[in-house]
Amino acid sequence: MSTLEQESGGAWPTTAGFDVPSETRALPLRPAWVEVDLNALASNFQIIRQELPRSVRLLYVLKDEAYGQGAIQAAQVALANGVDHLAVYTLEEAIKLRESGIAAPILLLGERTPEELPWLPARDLTPCIGSVALAQQWDACAQRLGRPLPVHLKINTGMNRFGFSWRDAAQWITALARLRHLEWAGVLSHFAQSDELDKTFARLQIDRFQGVVSGLEANGIRPKTRHLCNSGGFLDLPGAHFDMVRIGLLAHGVYPSQVCRQLNGLTPVLSVKARISAVQHLEMGDSVGYGMRFVAEERRRIGVIPLGYGDGFPRVRNEGHVLVSGCRAPLVGGVAMDALMVDLTGIPTADVGSEAVLLGRQGQLEICVHDVARLKKSVSYDVLVGWRSRLPRVYLGTETARATASGRFQ
Ligand SMILES: *Cc1c(COP(=O)(O)O)cnc(C)c1O
Repeated sequence: MSTLEQESGGAWPTTAGFDVPSETRALPLRPAWVEVDLNALASNFQIIRQELPRSVRLLYVLKDEAYGQGAIQAAQVALANGVDHLAVYTLEEAIKLRESGIAAPILLLGERTPEELPWLPARDLTPCIGSVALAQQWDACAQRLGRPLPVHLKINTGMNRFGFSWRDAAQWITALARLRHLEWAGVLSHFAQSDELDKTFARLQIDRFQGVVSGLEANGIRPKTRHLCNSGGFLDLPGAHFDMVRIGLLAHGVYPSQVCRQLNGLTPVLSVKARISAVQHLEMGDSVGYGMRFVAEERRRIGVIPLGYGDGFPRVRNEGHVLVSGCRAPLVGGVAMDALMVDLTGIPTADVGSEAVLLGRQGQLEICVHDVARLKKSVSYDVLVGWRSRLPRVYLGTETARATASGRFQ
């Protein structure tokens, strides 16, 4: 019996993280999958919650399927383990959470289109708004409905992406102060650089944010929840926690950088695994894969792993490794859309059916998100969300994680 079968009590684990058509759910599990450890997620939230005073609320940013894990499962675990607010970017993401029965406050990050606004009230979704025109349209929606609608004012303090600019605050604050039908639920900004050692620009953003908040208050706009920190700010800028922090990456057991403060006990949530599908024996001079990018200089034993760049693995050649039988097996040749090949010559116990770890731990060895990010010439965030939906998500520890600490942070 495989480890997976044991963990899930004999049946194949659930793979319903993404929108799997129901008729495919009974199929045998594809021998390549993303493993999501919900116990690790639960424990990470508890560790993060313990770092915060009770007066500071914890918002979980679970955009893009909770950074690749599956948003619904992640939201349920989060809400049972100290999280009180959720945030996503797209309307579809928010509606999917609501349709799964999640009742917690959901904040829509980014900027809405005017066409999206009428969809929000019935689903109890709160937009971030960063322009006077959109604020006026939201105010008009509230007037038509005959009840105040909540808004979080997004302030641009130097990221220069979304939001009202700190520069001309006096002008737009005057315009906002005329709106009569909105509930000033929150005000937020976002750091351009919070996880580097040099916090000069982050501190400038904090000052600008405080300046804008004072300006709002002076004009009778008193947002209930002020929030600025992402994972990096939460770790390194405790003076900027205000009323709430917005955590994404860190909840998944991954640090935004190597230099930020570390918390004891955080564990990576996501692993990527596959079973070796075939073994090939090469003679001297034989090549491997497209473009013949690897040529054997002696007899070699090659394992084929049924996962490729079509699943989100970086399209590298002769670079990187996977963990098999407790050893590192180097990649040989180029990564294909559906497969990659590794050198098993020194690992005689590895064979068809052996479990290979492409991200995560096996025995004493680990391939971490930052290792894969280097291969991909990208960042940890991109590695997490980059695993495509055709890789099934296998959830470990669901029941325990949902039950853990329920009632603990009421
Ligand atoms: C993604 C995002 C966050 C979370 O950032 P992490 O670094 O993943 O913690 C917070 N706020 C906003 C506006 C975001 O877009």
